[in-house]
Amino acid sequence: MKKKVIILGSTGSIGTQTLDVIRQYKDQFEVVGLACNSNVLLLSRQIKEFNPKFVAVADEKAAEKINPSGFTLFKGDMAIISMCTIKCDILVNALVGIEGLSPTITALKFGTNIALANKETLVTGGELVMKLAKDNNLSILPVDSEHSAIWQCLDFNVDKKINKIILTASGGAFRGKTKEEIANLKAKDALLHPTWNMGDKVTIDSATLMNKGLEVIEAMHLFNVKPENIDIVIHKESVIHSMIQYDDGSIIAQMSYPDMKLPIQVALNYPNRGDHLFSPLSFNNLQLNFASCDYDTFPCLKIALDVAKQGGLYPTIMNAANEELVKLYLQDKIKFYDISYHISKALEKFETSDKLSLFNIQRIDYDVREYIKKTI
Ligand code: MG
Repeated sequence: MKKKVIILGSTGSIGTQTLDVIRQYKDQFEVVGLACNSNVLLLSRQIKEFNPKFVAVADEKAAEKINPSGFTLFKGDMAIISMCTIKCDILVNALVGIEGLSPTITALKFGTNIALANKETLVTGGELVMKLAKDNNLSILPVDSEHSAIWQCLDFNVDKKINKIILTASGGAFRGKTKEEIANLKAKDALLHPTWNMGDKVTIDSATLMNKGLEVIEAMHLFNVKPENIDIVIHKESVIHSMIQYDDGSIIAQMSYPDMKLPIQVALNYPNRGDHLFSPLSFNNLQLNFASCDYDTFPCLKIALDVAKQGGLYPTIMNAANEELVKLYLQDKIKFYDISYHISKALEKFETSDKLSLFNIQRIDYDVREYIKKTI
């Protein structure tokens, strides 16, 4: 029996790499559904090759260019949610931003395991999502490389008692530069990321180290650990993808060359391991370097760690402000340190003790975005 797979965000960085993996295992996986926002040119090629039964395009205009012959086409605002109601074994959520939250919740309600590359799902709705998965006996399979590493170090047993998680961080495109140098660097400079091949939003988050902050919150939910039990270490080679430490001080690391296709393959093949061999790490002349984080030069990380401790709706406020500010930075409308400055301002303005619910997440997400748009 082939595993049936649906991919949300099939034309993005993780989506295309997921299809690269599936291409190696055509006898084991069947692509049942492909969903994207608007890149119908690439989507059409994917449809031709993988022959899905269901296709979703969120942008109604772009969807007009698709001729739905041999498959059902969902289009418009509800297209991606409709896709999440289709029966399959694994739904790969490779959407970017909080847009990934509702699809995750819908798919869980319809009894589907999630291979999760969308970190904002857990950052904003982590408690709701993990509870929903647990109540329905479903798995959230991490695709983020750090979380996949921790999961592998645990030998897939997320209930194992650990003392600490050590998240590694490449340090992003501006690693080693001074505050003065970074202040005037533009998004295009950040997009030249030294090690990882990622989408624009994640690459900017990586340059501000917000990405690592989001990953701390993600790890808290996936592995049920407190933020004070998560350390971050800068490791520029991105060979150790993260580590766990046991109570006796022993540390286990997962290592490989940086390639997102490996964590994708691990999630798709769970609970087994795949046999498509990636070039294994060579220890000849391998040099690994580590450094501590510079919170002064990268204030977004400090903000995220504070927010991780606050919990509730605060991660949503931070995330909404960050998403809007990253868009503006990508358009050269603001400078690098405007991102952390305005996130802090939004967190002050939207002080809240409202309870965590999907409704409240979506409401405050909307309000914060409007606030950022009006302020800048
Ligand atoms: Mg990561």
